[in-house]
Amino acid sequence: MTAKVRRRLRRVGSAAARAPEILTRLRAAYPDARCALDYRDAYQLLAATILSAQCTDARVNLVTPVLFAKYPTPATLARARPATVEEIIKSTGFFRNKTRSLIGMAQGLVAEFGGIVPRTMDQLRRLPGVGRKTANVVLGNAFGINEGITVDTHVTRLSRRLGLTREDDPVKIERDLMPLFPPEHWGLLSHLLIFHGRQICVARRPRCAECVLSDLCPSSAV
Ligand code: SF4
Repeated sequence: MTAKVRRRLRRVGSAAARAPEILTRLRAAYPDARCALDYRDAYQLLAATILSAQCTDARVNLVTPVLFAKYPTPATLARARPATVEEIIKSTGFFRNKTRSLIGMAQGLVAEFGGIVPRTMDQLRRLPGVGRKTANVVLGNAFGINEGITVDTHVTRLSRRLGLTREDDPVKIERDLMPLFPPEHWGLLSHLLIFHGRQICVARRPRCAECVLSDLCPSSAV
C-alpha cells in the first residue's frame, strides 16, 4: 500500500465504517446482480463452477448445455469416458484437470452422498476439485446458505482497492470481509463486487470518474 493510499484511507475512514454504505450503493447500482453461470440445480452449478476456473462465465455457459445433455445426473457423469468429457469442455481451458475434477466430483457424490449435492462446507470440500470458493458459490446460490464470501479475481482486486483488506490470499481476504458485512448479504456481496469489477473497477484502468464509490475509496483517481 502506497503512502498516498494510506493518506486517503485515513481520510475516507475505516473499512468497518464504510462497508454498510458500500453495500447500499452497490445494491442500488446493480439491482439485478446475480450468479452469471447458467444452472438448473446444485449438481449443474457445482460442475459449472469447476469449469469456470480461469475461464469466463459466458464461455462456460456455451459448454454446459452440451455437457448436461449428455450427463444429466451425477451418476451418468461418474461413468463418463474422460476423452468424451475432455472433448466437450476443451474450450474452457485446463480441460484435462477439469475433466478429472468433474468425474471425480460426480463419483464422490454417488459414493458418499447418494448422488445428492451436500449442503455443508466440510462435505462439499471432500469432493475432488471443490475448494472453499466453489463450495461458497454452491452453498450461497443453490441453497441460499451464506457460510462464507466467494473471493475470485474481481473480489480480490476490489477489496484491496477499496481498502477492505491488505491481503492477497483469498482465504485471508474472505476472513477480512466477513466481519464487515451482515452474513445474509455475503452471497450478494460477491455478485455486486464482481458486477462492479466487470463494469467500472476494471483491472487495467478503473473508471473512477463514473464510480458510485469514489468518495469512499482510498484508491480513487478522482
Ligand atoms: S473509485 Fe476507482 S478504484 Fe475505487 S472502487 Fe471505484 S473504480 Fe475502483
